[in-house]
Amino acid sequence: MKINAELVLKLRNQNSWTQDELAIASGLNLKTIQRIEKKASASLQSKKALASVFNIDIQDLDYEELQMKPCSECKSDRVYQYKEPMEFGGFGGELLPNLAPSLFSLAKFLPVVCFDCGHIRFFASKEARDKLDVSDHWKQI
Ligand SMILES: [Zn+2]
Repeated sequence: MKINAELVLKLRNQNSWTQDELAIASGLNLKTIQRIEKKASASLQSKKALASVFNIDIQDLDYEELQMKPCSECKSDRVYQYKEPMEFGGFGGELLPNLAPSLFSLAKFLPVVCFDCGHIRFFASKEARDKLDVSDHWKQI
């Protein structure tokens, strides 16, 4: 099954663990850790082991796909996203205040355009969304 490899890598780095050390801590073998981080795929057993070693819920390791398709306006599947999240010159700070990775950077957005109706949407980057939970400035409703 799919796993959020980005999160595994982030939590491993937060603990200052090498892949080897994570393997030992989780009881998984090194090859498994390497495959998980590279291919973003893991067995349910591996997910349980990782959730336990990082002290998080197993659902937190689920890979979350953004609902970019179909277009929310015209339901077309011909939707294009920019190659990477981008900063909006001077704009990001006001739209998503306090969600940038550091004090002097702006939160990033991923622009998505519909070929058929031209509707443009912006998705907050994973980085920005990751900060929502810990930010004092945002509350879940
Ligand atoms: Zn559309």
